[in-house]
Amino acid sequence: MEENKRTEIGELGEFGLIDHLNKSIVIKNPSTFKGIGDDAAVIEAGDHVKVVTTDLLIEGVHFDLAYAPLQHVGFKAVAVNVSDIAAMNAIPKQITVSIALSNRFSVEAVDALYSGVNAAAEHYNVDVIGGDTTASRSGLVISITAIGEAKKEELSYRSGAKVNDIICATGDLGGALVGLQILEREKQVFMANPDMKPDLDKYTFVTARQLKPDARMDIIHEMRELGIVPTSMLDISDGLASELFHICKASNVGVTIYEDKLPIDKQTFDTAVELGLDPITCVLNGGEDYELLFTIDQKDFEKLEKHADIHFIGHTTKPEEGKNLVTKSGTVVELKAQGWKHF
Ligand SMILES: [Mg+2]
Repeated sequence: MEENKRTEIGELGEFGLIDHLNKSIVIKNPSTFKGIGDDAAVIEAGDHVKVVTTDLLIEGVHFDLAYAPLQHVGFKAVAVNVSDIAAMNAIPKQITVSIALSNRFSVEAVDALYSGVNAAAEHYNVDVIGGDTTASRSGLVISITAIGEAKKEELSYRSGAKVNDIICATGDLGGALVGLQILEREKQVFMANPDMKPDLDKYTFVTARQLKPDARMDIIHEMRELGIVPTSMLDISDGLASELFHICKASNVGVTIYEDKLPIDKQTFDTAVELGLDPITCVLNGGEDYELLFTIDQKDFEKLEKHADIHFIGHTTKPEEGKNLVTKSGTVVELKAQGWKHF
């Protein structure tokens, strides 16, 4: 019977669930310039626009306090929101911070969490302007909303890429996933034998990539100085392949990327191999690196060509050419997006 139908959320997945909920939303205010569907919403505000994004982090789903210090959780909660503001090519200005806590947490623990929030607010030059605190039945929940500013013509959406644009990725990729695997492995070792001290010295880079990511506002400011507005942009929170698929869908283009151009740190590569993971799979499908993925018009290439931390990984194509990865041996394989599955 239809009224008793039960659909598992896992059948839809995260993006399917967003599409499903989006169907029932009707925009009523002309100042709502862009609603759901990009890294942040866009609101008209006189001679400029405001961009707004929000993220919810749940203990046991997004972070594990067995290995994530509360300061880092606080910092990361801000950084992931700032990263979505950066992804719109906007400048973050304000945040609100809401937390729910069980009685397991002391005032000192809350102070530790907020020391991370405040350090990030300082680092990204944003003001904490409000929030809410409430009780939780189990564990810690932290929700942050970030508000940024830009001129309308400065914004980069997912939908602006044209055929033959150059695809750029900042920093290095896969580290956060590899770091998470190491932290999980050491946690299992510790739980099996609490006398064992976890030995993380060899893995400081990858564990930091997981625990304390940095939103790439530096790149946004540099591109502004160079007068570059990316034709499309998003931040890499769910994995490079998944983010490329978003650009393809929103911009109606295909992509060709090159394995030998993909940025991976040596420690990420070596640790992936040690863990029995394919490093390139970590780069393509690892989440939470919070680097930027963007496309530029070919005319802007010269301005970024020498940049040490921007990598030119491929180019956009006609949509019918599909999504392709050219391997080191020159073989063309179809890109598959796996993304991050919470459900
Ligand atoms: Mg994003």
